[in-house]
Amino acid sequence: MSAPTQNSLATRCVHAGERTDPHGSPHTPIYTTTTFAFPSTAALLDVVEGRVAGSLYTRYGLNPSILALEEKLAALEGAEAALAFSSGMAAESALFFAHGRDGIVCIGDAYGGTLELIGQQLPLLGMPTHLLLGHELEQLDRLLAEGARLVFLETPTNPALEVFDIAALAEQVHARGALLVVDNTFASPVNQQPLALGADLVVHSATKYLGGHSDLTAGALMGARALLDPVWNWRKNLGQMPAPETAALLARSLRSLVVRVRQQSASALVVARAMEVHPRVARVLYPGLPSCPGHALATRQMSGFGGMLTIEIAGDGAAATAVADRLELFALAPSLGGVESLVTQPCTTTHHGLTPEERARRGISDAMLRLSIGLEDAEDLIADLHLALG
Ligand SMILES: *Cc1c(COP(=O)(O)O)cnc(C)c1O
Repeated sequence: MSAPTQNSLATRCVHAGERTDPHGSPHTPIYTTTTFAFPSTAALLDVVEGRVAGSLYTRYGLNPSILALEEKLAALEGAEAALAFSSGMAAESALFFAHGRDGIVCIGDAYGGTLELIGQQLPLLGMPTHLLLGHELEQLDRLLAEGARLVFLETPTNPALEVFDIAALAEQVHARGALLVVDNTFASPVNQQPLALGADLVVHSATKYLGGHSDLTAGALMGARALLDPVWNWRKNLGQMPAPETAALLARSLRSLVVRVRQQSASALVVARAMEVHPRVARVLYPGLPSCPGHALATRQMSGFGGMLTIEIAGDGAAATAVADRLELFALAPSLGGVESLVTQPCTTTHHGLTPEERARRGISDAMLRLSIGLEDAEDLIADLHLALG
């Protein structure tokens, strides 16, 4: 029942990768099995030696629930292949071990775990890594000339919603023979297709929009099979595959990805517009607003502006904390992309580990609140924000 990738995204979300069974299940059953039996040694060797695709051992990812999920994940990003992981950070670390040993450049703000892994932990293993902010991009070409082979970025970024030009960066990075990897967690495949814009690989924290219900932890990497093969070996021996139960739960969630994210993006725009005219809000960062510096580029490179926005309260960090604490519908929690709306104050969570000077250098003020818009009615969310803002 696997669907050709020329089907629209919504159709691929429902049908891609699904395997039926002898009972006529309309989607792939959960295979909790750790190992798979063969009728003969010859048939076993066909799988072990790669002549025949098949199930073998679950830690290898060779399990029908995981393989079916990977077919669906590949179809979402228009990729030749995909690998599923136990978390977004598992996907990133296996990727960096496989392709980052000659040097990694991370552009712009990124997820805290990504910055820690690239900035602090990989250098302990002797891997040369560099963190460049958006205004330091002129250094990229020199770092590529010096041997960096992997360029990694998020767009839009967290929490400032800065937008980077994927097609232009792909051209620059490819001219030096390096790889461009986009963390597409914030936009989701519904709003942005990095591979079509020229990126080589896409990584996801599937914990966020792909899972979409704040009830599973997983990751994904999509791209050409030749680029994924070396990552597969790292995943296998670091033991980073998702459990079959999680793989099946994620595939279940992906069937509704398009309707969820389209609604979340539409509601985020309504909330952003309401916040933009509120006297106690100094600034709204949302790529869908013409006032946002990344708006023109986002309009070109995205098909929707996503469900994440950041508001800056008119006042100090304590004023923003008071607003966050008064919200009722928005749960005070890190993470994003679920059906329930969440609020976080970056200086107390995602960027708590940075000094105030480093936060300022990254354009993150203590008065910022990051909102992840869920599937509640947008007017109810606005009413909650109005009450909290006072
Ligand atoms: C959450 C997140 C990650 C890490 O994903 P986990 O599933 O928590 O390991 C990576 N990148 C982005 C943009 C994220 O939001």
